[in-house]
Amino acid sequence: MSNSNLVTRWWPANPTNYTGGREGNKIQGIVVHHAASTSLDSIGAAFARAGRNGSAHYGVGGNQIHQYVDEANTTWHCSNWWGNVRTVGIETTNSTGAPNWDIAPDTFETLVKLVADIAKRNNLGKLWINPKADMPTLSGHKDWYGASTVCPGPSLYPRLQEIADRANAINFPPVVEKPSIVWVDITPFALKAKEKIDILDLDTGADKGDIQVGMVVSNLVQETIVNGQKYYRTLYSKTKGFNNGILAEALEPIDTATSPESIINGEARETDVEIKVSNEDEKRHITEKEVKEEAKKDDGFGDDIAPVPGVKPGMKPEEVQKLIEEQKKNMEKSEEIIDEVNKDMEFSPKTKMIVYLLGDLLIIAGTQAPLVVALVNTTDAVTFGQLLGQLLLSTGTMLLFTFKLLKKKGEQNV
Ligand SMILES: [Zn+2]
Repeated sequence: MSNSNLVTRWWPANPTNYTGGREGNKIQGIVVHHAASTSLDSIGAAFARAGRNGSAHYGVGGNQIHQYVDEANTTWHCSNWWGNVRTVGIETTNSTGAPNWDIAPDTFETLVKLVADIAKRNNLGKLWINPKADMPTLSGHKDWYGASTVCPGPSLYPRLQEIADRANAINFPPVVEKPSIVWVDITPFALKAKEKIDILDLDTGADKGDIQVGMVVSNLVQETIVNGQKYYRTLYSKTKGFNNGILAEALEPIDTATSPESIINGEARETDVEIKVSNEDEKRHITEKEVKEEAKKDDGFGDDIAPVPGVKPGMKPEEVQKLIEEQKKNMEKSEEIIDEVNKDMEFSPKTKMIVYLLGDLLIIAGTQAPLVVALVNTTDAVTFGQLLGQLLLSTGTMLLFTFKLLKKKGEQNV
């Protein structure tokens, strides 16, 4: 049991006018009265006087709510002890006297809010009225056995159902159905991301993944408008029944040639986590130029030294990719080992120099190995001569380069 925090004035009733506690009963209902007075303050003043032999918990008038007795205590208000110990009593100030005992609109609004608040805090559920029931959750004074009164008067009494309905609407607001998203089929097409785009779950607003700038999204098959924004849906989302939308204004037409690596196949996936290469490109064999291009991109040595070990013209793109991945993994592993060693050991400048030299020589040996193998295997004198020339030339260049490095390192270490 608690009290309403809507109260604007605490005006304690005289203890001779109410009973402490509720004889162990819980609050099970609210009883509405009218004050038979146009002055809210007159109610508080009356209950504060000893010997009034009556009380209520609250009084409302205009936008004011006065409290006289704690809800935990029993007020003497409904002419029925069984009812008093189980209910909260509210006095409502009239705006006119007899015979109509009108209630001002703002007073009525305040009453509704207070009734809703009492019902909520005391878990009365949805309020209901029934003069014949033992314990309706909302009642008027005259509904109670033993009460010989017209309270709460001819204006307020017929509005009890309205009070219940209004309070219930406050405590149990109707569930607003979210407008369901209506997708409209369009001719499937592809667009390019102008910027990094979040794929949005249009039901929840959750970020379902990203499309990087420059990526082409294919198989856009539906569109919809949400909050004035146009979104496209991929075939993938449509098939899965996901309300995932890609903001239309973040996409643009594909005006330049797009490499297969930057296509997101909207039929299979819709983020760039997994890039789907179209079937045509899967079948196409990679050219020598592309091998070199790949090498330039990924091995970090440059076109004039070795490409990724093992990459040969005629390989499929995914085979090249696999080799690159392996190469990267090996390099990462060796970096880890180097880091591990460096953690615990201190090398002298000389030792470092030797290690660098050995490393450079190993690079030369490694990069030239395919050439040496080719040289050994050749049976044709002309080819042999050409390969030998090439080997000597590149090895010579390398050795020179190494000595230059060595010199530089020597200088640094002095
Ligand atoms: Zn009454």
